[in-house]
Amino acid sequence: MNELKLSSKDLMELENNFGAHNYHSIPVVLEKGDGVLVYDIEGKQYFDFLSAYSAVNQGHSNPKIIQTLIDQARKLTLTSRAFYNSQLGLFDKFVTEYFGYDKILPMNTGAEAVETALKLCRKWAYEKKGLPDNSAQIVVCENNFHGRTTTIISFSVDPEAYGHFGPFTPGFIIIPYNDADALEKVLIETPNIAGFLVEPIQGEAGAFVPHDGYLRSCYNICQQHNVLFIADEVQTGIARTGKMLACDYESVHPDILILGKALSGGVYPVSAVLSSQSIMDVFQPGQHGSTFGGNPLAAAVAISALEVVRDENLAANAFRMGNIFRAEMKIICETSKIASFVRGKGLLNALIVNDKGYENLAWEVCLKLAENGLLAKPTHSNIIRFAPPLIITETQLNECILIIKKTIKSFE
Ligand SMILES: *Cc1c(COP(=O)(O)O)cnc(C)c1O
Repeated sequence: MNELKLSSKDLMELENNFGAHNYHSIPVVLEKGDGVLVYDIEGKQYFDFLSAYSAVNQGHSNPKIIQTLIDQARKLTLTSRAFYNSQLGLFDKFVTEYFGYDKILPMNTGAEAVETALKLCRKWAYEKKGLPDNSAQIVVCENNFHGRTTTIISFSVDPEAYGHFGPFTPGFIIIPYNDADALEKVLIETPNIAGFLVEPIQGEAGAFVPHDGYLRSCYNICQQHNVLFIADEVQTGIARTGKMLACDYESVHPDILILGKALSGGVYPVSAVLSSQSIMDVFQPGQHGSTFGGNPLAAAVAISALEVVRDENLAANAFRMGNIFRAEMKIICETSKIASFVRGKGLLNALIVNDKGYENLAWEVCLKLAENGLLAKPTHSNIIRFAPPLIITETQLNECILIIKKTIKSFE
C-alpha cells in the first residue's frame, strides 16, 4: 500500500497541472496537524507560523472543536435558512453576548462578511441616515485587505488584486491609513458618507500597527458625523493580537464588527457581521442571505471554537508570547545585516528584512525556515509574517526563536 503513496512532488505536480495558479505556495505538502505542529506527507514536522492566515488560532485539530464537528455532522449539517435549525439560535445568542452586540448575521467567508457589512452600511445610510438613493460613499484605507470579491477589490490599491478585474464598483473613497486627520477632512468635505471601513491592524500589509489612539480618534470622528465605524477584525479578532478584539486596546465598540477566520478555529468556514438592533433591522426577509450561512454545523463549531478561546485564555497567552517574540526578534535585528525590524501586537507579527541586493529575500528566508522546520509566508518581498496558533507554549516559542535565529544567520 505504501508503495502507491504519492510523494510531495507528485501532489504538487497535480495541483500545478490541474489547479488554477492563483497562489504561490511554499513547496510543502501538509497531511496532518496537531496543535502548533503540522506534518508533510513524508512525515517531516513543522511549526506552523502562519496558522492559515490566523484562522487556526485554537491550534490544528483542536480536540474539543473536532468533537463538536463530528457530533453535529452526524446529526444535521445543512437546512438552509428556509427553515429554522436547532443550533443557529444558540449561536446567535452566544456570539452576540460574547462580543456585546444586539444582533448577528452569519456568513461563511471573510469576504462575504465584508460584503454583508458594506450592504448593511449602505442600506442604513438610505433608510436611517436619509442619504439620497445610490449616493452613499464608504471611506476605506490605503493598503487595505478585505477579501477578493469584485466589489472589495474595487477599493484595493494593490495592482495584483485589482488589475484587469474592472469595471469596478463605485462608492468608495480611499484615504491614508493611520491618519485620523485625513478621515476628519474627508468627512467634513464630502457629502453622503455612510461608513468608514478599517482594519485595526493591517494584516496583509505586513502586521502594520497604527499609532496608539488612532482607532479611538477615528471612532469619535465617525460618531460626530453620524458615519458608521466598521471594523474588519477577520484577521485581528478572536484573541490574535492579545485581546479578544484588536479594538479592545482602545475600548472601541465598532458600530459594525466583521469576524471570520478563527471564528471556527479553522475547522469550517464561518464568518459573521455583528451590530446593533437599529442598524441590523434594515435587513428584511429576502434582502440578503447565503445557502450555507448559519448552517447548524457552522453554528455548533463556532460556539465550540469561541469557548476554547475563552476557556484556554488564549488572548492572555497571545499577549505574553507576543511580547517575548518581539523582544527576541529585536535582539536579532540589532546585530543582523538582513533583519531590519519587527512589528506587531500579540501573536500577529512581521519581521521586515533588508532586501537591498537580494532578490525575493523574504521568500528565500521562508524556504530556508521550512527546511529548518518552521512554516511562514512573506506578505511582501521584504516582509515575513509570524503568526503561530495562540496555544503555543513558551518552550515551543523558544525553540521557534532558535530556528528563526539560525535561519537568519545563514543569510548573513
Ligand atoms: C482574510 C481576510 C479577509 C477575507 O477573508 P476570506 O475568508 O479569505 O474571504 C477579509 N479581511 C481581512 C482583514 C482578512 O485578513
